[in-house]
Amino acid sequence: MVWATLDRNAGRAAIKSLVVEKGTPGFELVRLEHKLGIRASDTAQFALRDCRVPRENLLGEPTINVAHHSSGGFAGVMQTFDNTRPPVAAMAVGLARACIEETQRLLKEAGVDVDHDRPAYAQQAAAAELLKLEADYEAARLLTMQAAWMADDRKPNSLQASQAKAGRACVDIALKCVELCGSAGYGQHELLEKWARDAMILDIFEGTQQIQLLIIARRLLGKSSAELK
Ligand SMILES: Cc1cc2nc3c(=O)[nH]c(=O)nc-3n(C[C@H](O)[C@H](O)[C@H](O)COP(=O)(O)OP(=O)(O)OC[C@H]3O[C@@H](n4cnc5c(N)ncnc54)[C@H](O)[C@@H]3O)c2cc1C
Repeated sequence: MVWATLDRNAGRAAIKSLVVEKGTPGFELVRLEHKLGIRASDTAQFALRDCRVPRENLLGEPTINVAHHSSGGFAGVMQTFDNTRPPVAAMAVGLARACIEETQRLLKEAGVDVDHDRPAYAQQAAAAELLKLEADYEAARLLTMQAAWMADDRKPNSLQASQAKAGRACVDIALKCVELCGSAGYGQHELLEKWARDAMILDIFEGTQQIQLLIIARRLLGKSSAELK
């Protein structure tokens, strides 16, 4: 799926989404990337040269409406994020949960039992650290549920979608779990090493953490994108 302009002179309103199928004449796969994480998902660079896309591959309204561009064009692209950021946040929550569960298992094997009925300060340092990570995880999970619930109910959720997506929790938790498990955490024979590599992309795609913070600041301060860059 490619976002492209139908008319360079018409500004953001002319940006539309198109399905460009691999194999369309003019579509060239330049290279597949070798990546830090999410290696089961291909990321590729491609070039489009004199690539003609059939009209029926255009998604949404074909007309360019400069006056009311909130229903399509660039504003439409931005609105898509309100629905796609909560699922990315959900992936981050899932990854964080897997890391915590695996760490708890590895710690138990090493003789460290996490006791949820006793205060953190009265437990071994590794157990106390895991309790902190669980609290971060729970906060990230609740933010994600809120953003997704609002999207489901068609409530304006840009702020909540960015707050959920901005969760640094997933990267922090994954790295901390590697740290807590020592060589088992860092080694490739356990999954923590993989999850730590996979975590980073969740803080990048669908808008980086820094861009989420910018959006949150704009929403809270009532500033436009021109006023707060
Ligand atoms: C593996 C992978 C898969 C991807 N898959 C897709 C996909 O399927 N579809 C798709 O459309 N995109 C995809 N992307 C693109 C991804 O969404 C962008 O890479 C991401 O949003 C960052 O944008 P950028 O690369 O233009 O970074 P840049 O804008 O060049 O930013 C670089 C750095 O500067 C920071 N920065 C930029 N502007 C500001 C600012 N104003 N204030 C503070 N910091 C700032 C950013 O946060 C980032 O840390 C993918 C990227 C990767 C790495």
